[in-house]
Amino acid sequence: MRKLLVGLVASAAIWGGTPAIAQKAEVQLWRLDCGTVAANDLNAFSDTQAYPEQSKRLTSSCYLIRHGSDYLLWDTGLPSAMKGKPLDDSQAMDATVTLTIKEQLVQLKIDPARITHVGLSHYHFDHSGQLAEFPGATLIVGKGDWTVLTTDPASYGANPAPFAHWISGGGKVEQATTDKDVFGDGSVTMLRLPGHTPGHSGLLVRLKEKGPVLLSGDLAHFSENYASNGVPTFNVNRAESLASLDRFKKLADNLKATVIIQHEPADVGKLPAFPQAAE
Ligand SMILES: [Zn+2]
Ligand SMILES: [Zn+2]
Repeated sequence: MRKLLVGLVASAAIWGGTPAIAQKAEVQLWRLDCGTVAANDLNAFSDTQAYPEQSKRLTSSCYLIRHGSDYLLWDTGLPSAMKGKPLDDSQAMDATVTLTIKEQLVQLKIDPARITHVGLSHYHFDHSGQLAEFPGATLIVGKGDWTVLTTDPASYGANPAPFAHWISGGGKVEQATTDKDVFGDGSVTMLRLPGHTPGHSGLLVRLKEKGPVLLSGDLAHFSENYASNGVPTFNVNRAESLASLDRFKKLADNLKATVIIQHEPADVGKLPAFPQAAE
């Protein structure tokens, strides 16, 4: 009988199901402020020129997820070197940082060395800016993005510099080829949503009280852009971008999830104000 039970649990694991006897770890989600972006030519976010002569302040957000004793940082924002830089509205696009991730971890009394995983939605500089400050973490990134970063020279505007520690073999890398169940219990899943970049990903976090939360990465950059299936001029693949939007929206409906567009200032209010966590 015992043998049979062990066999059943093992086959549940093989088939991707969570054994009923497994205790789910406690999961918490914090929103971190990872900078501000001045989009002074909003048409950059529309390859059908939907926003002539419009500008918008976007936020740059990162997320900290505690899973039991593990910590996953989702995106690492703009570079710390941009801290305090005034925004220049004469540029088509400019950015600044108010507080670094490490400064916010101090407020949470979490030693940066305790960050076990860093998951990146994609390689753009406003998402990988502070990556190098967490060299002990396992880097999880879409395979398509990793291929671009490790091809010499890197294409599609990818800057491999923040990834140097992992590219040189100094840190552990996990390349996601499809959806990735980060902790093996279904609570945190990296979603394959290509189009913005070849390996672009989103994140699904299942919280006990709040329910499912979907983090967009750069699937869309603001609410109207999301609602109208806008495709930025700088996306790598238009067809994949639209397919990913379709998938994400259906997933959000089916799960009745809280959708957070990471660059949308209005979505900041969908999670508790820092330093409070959603649970
Ligand atoms: Zn991007
Ligand atoms: Zn971005």
